Amino acid sequence: MDADDLLARRVMAKLRDVPDFPRPGILFKDITPVLTDPQLFGDVIDWMAEGWRGIDRVVGIESRGFLFGAALMGRMGVGLGLARKKGKLPFATIGVEYDLEYGKAELEMHVDAVERGQRVLVVDDLLATGGTAGAAVRLCRQLGAEVVGVGVLVELSFLDGRDRLDVPVRSLVSI
Ligand code: AMP
Repeated sequence: MDADDLLARRVMAKLRDVPDFPRPGILFKDITPVLTDPQLFGDVIDWMAEGWRGIDRVVGIESRGFLFGAALMGRMGVGLGLARKKGKLPFATIGVEYDLEYGKAELEMHVDAVERGQRVLVVDDLLATGGTAGAAVRLCRQLGAEVVGVGVLVELSFLDGRDRLDVPVRSLVSI
C-alpha cells in the first residue's frame, strides 16, 4: 500500500455518513471529523498541494471548499478566489446557472477573484454530479483564467461527475 492509500484510509475512517441529509434519499458525506484532526488535515492539504504544478491561484467553492482553499493558499503560496452561491458576494460579480439534481442554482465570483491568464486550481470537499465544480470552471474561464484542474477530498464516482468536467480531476477518496 502506498502513502496515498494509507492517507485515504485515514480519511475514510473519519468520514461520517449522514442519511437523508439535506433531503430524504441523500447520503451526506460529512467531512467535519477530518477538520478536528490537525495532523490528518495537514496531511490532506500536503496531498492536495503536491498534485499540481505552476498554479497561480486557488478557487474555493462555498462553503467547505473555502477551508481547503485557505489552507492551500498558505501551502502553495498563491492567492484564493471564492465561488459563492448567488447573492452572497458584495462587489461586482459574474454568475452562471447550473443544474442541480432537482432544479437550478447559480454560482458567482467577484470579477477580480482570478486574473486573465492565471493558472487556476478549483477545490472543494466533495465531487458529486460535477455541476458545482463545472460552474466554477466556467466562471474562471469567463474571467480569462486557465483552469488546470479540480481537486477534491472525496469523489462519489458512481455519479460520474468527472465525466462532466473537461479538466483533470484529482481525488483522494473515491467512493
Ligand atoms: P455536485 O454539484 O453535485 O458535484 O455537488 C457538489 C457540492 O455539493 C459540493 O460542494 C459538496 O460539498 C456538496 N455535496 C453534494 N452531494 C454531497 C454528499 N452526498 N455529501 C456531502 N456533500 C455533498
